[in-house]
Amino acid sequence: MKIAIVGAGIGGLSAAVGLQKAGAQVTVFERAAEVRAGGSGLSVFANGLRALQSLGLGPQFAAITDKKAESFAAGQRRPDGRWIARLPTDSVGELRIVDRADLHRILLDALDEGTVRTNAFVTSASIAGTVTVGPGPQENFDLVIGADGLNSQVRETIKSGIGPRYSGYSSWRGITERPVDLDGAAGETVGRGLRFGIAPLKDERVYWFAVANMPQHASFADEKAAVRDLFSSWHAPIAELIATTPSDRIRRTAISDLAAPLPTYHRGRVVLLGDAAHAMTPNLGQGGGQALEDAATLTALLAPVIADSSGPVSPADSVSSAGTSTSAGGVDVQLRRYDRLRKRRSQSIAAKSRILGAVFQMQSPFLSGIRDAIFSAAPAKVTAAQAASVQKWHPPSA
Ligand SMILES: Cc1cc2nc3c(=O)[nH]c(=O)nc-3n(C[C@H](O)[C@H](O)[C@H](O)COP(=O)(O)OP(=O)(O)OC[C@H]3O[C@@H](n4cnc5c(N)ncnc54)[C@H](O)[C@@H]3O)c2cc1C
Repeated sequence: MKIAIVGAGIGGLSAAVGLQKAGAQVTVFERAAEVRAGGSGLSVFANGLRALQSLGLGPQFAAITDKKAESFAAGQRRPDGRWIARLPTDSVGELRIVDRADLHRILLDALDEGTVRTNAFVTSASIAGTVTVGPGPQENFDLVIGADGLNSQVRETIKSGIGPRYSGYSSWRGITERPVDLDGAAGETVGRGLRFGIAPLKDERVYWFAVANMPQHASFADEKAAVRDLFSSWHAPIAELIATTPSDRIRRTAISDLAAPLPTYHRGRVVLLGDAAHAMTPNLGQGGGQALEDAATLTALLAPVIADSSGPVSPADSVSSAGTSTSAGGVDVQLRRYDRLRKRRSQSIAAKSRILGAVFQMQSPFLSGIRDAIFSAAPAKVTAAQAASVQKWHPPSA
């Protein structure tokens, strides 16, 4: 079975690993000159961990992370450092914080050489399973996976007319260049229209993010100075985290999600995963986790079809319109199952994430005061149960 994957992000690479291990002939098309993850961290919760394990990447992921974040005090703090709400230490489940560059490396290392084609900008894909790179010519596949992110080109084959929508806030991210002592506390600090997040990496360096309300196309002469000025009066070690991050490693992203849920994640021989299917705001730290779940689900569902298609071609098998031989019925059935399984869960998490973002980014002193009071009054058990419900996930059986 010949599979094209458009995009070498977390979603595309993890799907490539799973499907290649299942026996498919996989090509990943990446528009960039090299596969790079950008200098920031990623929170991976129990669901993402399970997806990585089902893709056979458990040991590799364990080697680049540790369990430190599980034991840190977490929850929400006020800008002066007082806790608004503290989560019980066991409530974040199996949280791991990873340097994205390390995650990308283990994904790439798990692929056969030559699987990823860089400088390969996919200009169009069709529901018959064709892919055009640059000016062409077309190449034929049994399946095209659109893993090309928020501004997905492949999404156009679904013809939903749905695209990105700016959230009203943007986020700076960075990783300190040396270890910083966090005094055993991580999590988020929330102010009025401002938020700062702290997450410890395995080697004692710290991944941080800072969120601020602003127009989508705001510009700053000096990004580091901008974030430093906004958070200069906030509790320690926020100023130190910013100061110990090189200017050229601080990146700002305008936060967007999809303007509406897609009616379907597949059409013909095209299927979407990751941000292409359900770009969400990062307030629950679940965009990457959902991309991993997509990849693990697609792998689990397609593995038997791939196994069938690599055996002798039976009369029941058909020759797809793309001109390659595979069990067309099997693929279609499993893509419909994928759509059913993934749409509901990923779209409900995207909706929750958006609401949480609106609450966290409240600017009015009155409303943010009410928010803090509610967070502080909410029983820790309730907050923990909500977090656990998002993280509860297992790969499907084929
Ligand atoms: C500030 C911020 C913090 C976040 N924090 C977390 C977190 O803690 N935990 C978490 O789980 N998630 C987090 N996320 C979300 C997570 O980063 C994304 O959901 C995830 O990276 C999506 O992966 P993807 O593979 O679907 O898409 P992408 O990572 O966007 O990859 C798409 C790839 O496709 C390529 N591409 C695009 N178009 C084409 C084309 N036409 N032809 C060829 N290649 C193409 C791109 O170059 C890119 O490499 C965060 C997001 C942001 C913005």
